[in-house]
Amino acid sequence: MKKTIEDYNLKDKKVIIRVDFNVPINNLKVTDDSRIKASLKTINYCLDNNAKVILLSHLGRIKNESDKMLNTLYPVSERLSDLLNKKVIFIDETRGKKLEEAVNNLKNGEVLLVENTRFEDIDGNKESGNDLQLAKYWASLGDIFVNDAFGTCHRAHASNVGIASILPSCLGYLVLKETTMLNNAINKNEKPFTVILGGAKVKDKIKVIENLVTKADYILIGGAMAYTFLKARGYNVGKSLVDDDSIDFCIDILTKYKDKIVLPIDTVNAKEIKEEVPHNEVDITLFKEDEIGLDIGSKTVELFSKYLKMSKTIIWNGPVGYFEIEKYGLGTKKLCQILKNIDALKIVGGGDTASAILEYQNVFDHISTGGGASLAMLEGKTLKAIDAISDKYE
Ligand code: ADP
Ligand code: MG
Repeated sequence: MKKTIEDYNLKDKKVIIRVDFNVPINNLKVTDDSRIKASLKTINYCLDNNAKVILLSHLGRIKNESDKMLNTLYPVSERLSDLLNKKVIFIDETRGKKLEEAVNNLKNGEVLLVENTRFEDIDGNKESGNDLQLAKYWASLGDIFVNDAFGTCHRAHASNVGIASILPSCLGYLVLKETTMLNNAINKNEKPFTVILGGAKVKDKIKVIENLVTKADYILIGGAMAYTFLKARGYNVGKSLVDDDSIDFCIDILTKYKDKIVLPIDTVNAKEIKEEVPHNEVDITLFKEDEIGLDIGSKTVELFSKYLKMSKTIIWNGPVGYFEIEKYGLGTKKLCQILKNIDALKIVGGGDTASAILEYQNVFDHISTGGGASLAMLEGKTLKAIDAISDKYE
């Protein structure tokens, strides 16, 4: 068990919080502030407990000086000021006298945001390479370190793993919620436990399948990856996106777990992946050579719903169709409508899945904010930045 923010007395302390403020910005304005909002609970807890708050975050990727202009955290400081209803002190540097003085002058209940941690990547990849000197420097600015940036927890950076291995540390509310929700669903689930798996390539999800197939009762496969499984089972899948390198893996899984893996029985096909090109819905056995499979058909939706209705725990990763074109997002939407009336623990993990189900947010108990980090958890990996946090009973 890892320490949480409630395990420390924060009064008069300089608390460094690693947040995930990697938000979309256009013309120096934040265009989606949901990640900033997700960090407010932890920030406000520190402020209510009379701490001095120092915030660290990355934004985008920084390879050269010109990337800096477009990836300053200044617009985030403005938006955060509005949301907290309090002035946020923004320091446009990642180290140096200006930052040190501002930290020393910080009073209880005040918030300071440091410039984009990845500005330190220009000179030797120090942030992303978890440089020890940089971690020591940032750690020297505070007394306690809180990790509340779930989206980067699968990576070892100076601003998460580095600082945590130097200062007394703990998890913030967002990371705590993310890890508890996913962990409970994967490992302490009420059965039947069903996984909906979709997305593009089997190759990207091999570790997820290997881990979950041992834990789940059923795995319902949609998306492009279904066509690789169907090909492995001997069906003609025309010109669908098939991941030929993974056919042997699919044959192996289908043989070992034939009662767990549920594949589509019909498909929505078209000759080209374009909105204006007509589509048709056919049984899997009637695939034409020149067609691409782009969504699950209505008989498959019905088949999947039988399994979902029995389930008590459901994890969903990967859209079941090419949802970027609206008409091929219908299978994904129909599954959301079915899930709405199902009484189970319902969790979504995965960057594209989260955007595909956006209109149906209310249907789910939890939608993970971290694509890569939630995938790493589905693969059964421990997250490096969480490993680095102080244990509860030392
Ligand atoms: P996540 O980011 O949630 O882990 P993935 O990245 O694995 O999900 O998969 C999302 C992608 O899979 C989307 O871009 C979607 O268009 C694609 N996809 C789903 N079904 C198909 C299909 N039948 N053919 C081609 N691409 C598909
Ligand atoms: Mg993706």
